[in-house]
Amino acid sequence: MTEVQLQEIKLEPDSELRFEVESKNEKVVLEVKSGYAELFGTELVKAKPYEFHTGAKVAVFTWHGCTVELRGRTEVSYVAKETPMVVYLNVHAALEQQRVAAEQENTRGPVTMIVGPGDVGKSTLTRILLNYAVRMGRRPIFVDLDVGQGHISIPGTIGALLVERPASIEEGFSQQAPLVYHFGHKSPNENLELYNTIVSRLAEVIAERCEHNKKASTSGVIINTCGWVKGAGYKVLTHAAQAFEVDVILVLDNERLYNELKRDMPKFVKVVYLPKSGGVVERSTSQRAELRDGRIREYFYGKRTPYYPHSFDVKFSDLKIYKVGAPSLPDSCMPLGMRAEEALTKLVPVWASAALAHRILAVSFSPAADELALHSNLAGFVCVTAVDMERQTLTILSPQPRPLPNTILLLSELQYMDNH
Ligand code: ATP
Repeated sequence: MTEVQLQEIKLEPDSELRFEVESKNEKVVLEVKSGYAELFGTELVKAKPYEFHTGAKVAVFTWHGCTVELRGRTEVSYVAKETPMVVYLNVHAALEQQRVAAEQENTRGPVTMIVGPGDVGKSTLTRILLNYAVRMGRRPIFVDLDVGQGHISIPGTIGALLVERPASIEEGFSQQAPLVYHFGHKSPNENLELYNTIVSRLAEVIAERCEHNKKASTSGVIINTCGWVKGAGYKVLTHAAQAFEVDVILVLDNERLYNELKRDMPKFVKVVYLPKSGGVVERSTSQRAELRDGRIREYFYGKRTPYYPHSFDVKFSDLKIYKVGAPSLPDSCMPLGMRAEEALTKLVPVWASAALAHRILAVSFSPAADELALHSNLAGFVCVTAVDMERQTLTILSPQPRPLPNTILLLSELQYMDNH
């Protein structure tokens, strides 16, 4: 373990400073003293202190050289001269050419999907390419299909966001008016039928919106995906590629996946192999669980800007809670003309029980409990903090003072222990 209290570090052109903040309640402050540097594609402002907290894994990259100061204790900190940033910049330049062509020919900009196994830097590359695009004055759409982490909303959802300014160093992309769909599990494997349904729906809505927003349409879409790439996971990826009609697939660090996609994708889809950065940090199952928890805590309590959620009791009879997916029966037992898979996207009422404690409920904009609820954008989330079976009430943690009457609530498998 290296202990750094105050360090001034000179970075040569084309190199990056990597550091991690691991210890609990630790804070590291970074400041650019001279020159220019960026963090996953966002330019750092000179002499402005940036704070990083427990769990942060960071790379400060410079194209032209700079001096930075690091205050606080980092678990790891080193300078790397070998980075794939030039390759990533070339990818950006190629996408930019396609955007220029789209503008001239009045067509759609490049739809790019980033794939690869877990911990290869998919989310980071997504952020870099979005940041570079928006720094060129583009307005790309960010799509996140990774239900395991949930970069746009909380885990257990997929979503999309129009990116209008670079990601904030400390808080990521601005979360104004995202499109969010309920899935309710940490892996697509838990309900492939539902996952593919909402991916297709999201693709449709984005295509519709692009028809009315030329700037977004020519800027294109960048899609981040799950790290599940084998067997059914591969099928999920090819389905997403088809649904979004992707033009480019960037494969990070997996030759097998690259070759499979080259073989299976239509010829007009460019499949490109990219190296992963040596700086990408592998995360253990418990670290991933902590990250998921952190995302939910941020949703209710904010990150840098604090939020103050409300807590109140609601009678169970006043709530309409559903889960998605009836138990699957063999086709022979289904009503005539109905496939067994259809049961997986049906809404089933949920009855009061202690099992609801700590569960996340997605608040739907849908007026009715039918498949429209799956096709509707989410209004937000609440968390059940306690269940009183005697009084038949639930205690709810909510960003709003009271949930809207008559809203449909969709039960998620995700749990959150509110000990704020
Ligand atoms: P998953 O499939 O689990 O979502 P991923 O492939 O999207 O993972 P990232 O989330 O992009 O991987 O990266 C994993 C971690 O590595 C993140 O915490 C990220 O901040 C860190 N990281 C990425 N690139 C670098 C780098 N060059 N130097 C240091 N840390 C990095």
